[in-house]
Amino acid sequence: MNINAFEIPLTKNPVISMNVIPGHFATNHFHLSHYLDLENLKTNAMTARNVAIELALPYLSTTLVDTIVCMEGTQVIGAYMAEELMSEGTSIVNSGREIHVITPISNIDKKLMFQSSMQSLINNKNIILLVSTISSGTTVNNALECLSYYGGRTVGISTLFSANPDKYEFEFNTMFINEDIPEYKVYIPGECAMCNEGHKLDAIIIHDGYAEI
Ligand SMILES: [Zn+2]
Repeated sequence: MNINAFEIPLTKNPVISMNVIPGHFATNHFHLSHYLDLENLKTNAMTARNVAIELALPYLSTTLVDTIVCMEGTQVIGAYMAEELMSEGTSIVNSGREIHVITPISNIDKKLMFQSSMQSLINNKNIILLVSTISSGTTVNNALECLSYYGGRTVGISTLFSANPDKYEFEFNTMFINEDIPEYKVYIPGECAMCNEGHKLDAIIIHDGYAEI
């Protein structure tokens, strides 16, 4: 664990906290001043359940849901989110309904797809798309295109973290935003202040994890 790492608790529910590592990181699209370690939120069952309760809130009394499509390792959260959405309660619109939790696969061209056996869970169904982070919007746009291709209706998008959530053409619910992290900066590679000051990259962020260089 990086000695400079620190925790950012969710104000509404401090049981949920995000581990943040400062440094100079690169993704496919950006250079970042911090790496967000979201693994514990996604894999620790107790924490994931708390996350799911938070993420389910905007939909509980308003949104019929048939399927939760999980990307970027959010399956545990997705399962608890389904449980929360189906819980008993007069104002809970999915009480007594069935919700399926599924994950797309990538074909050889890295295009998202669903196996034939899964397609009936998308076609003509109300879908919540669950992703770990929204940064460039590419993952969400690809997923929306895929869901639309299979005849699904996306009724909600949820994520654990997004920088500048107002800049996207789609609406979504996010638990943490960039303003929760002091000094968090996102740069286009050619305009990175850390590069300009001669700082070497600490690591490259690959799929959610990072590889030190
Ligand atoms: Zn840089």
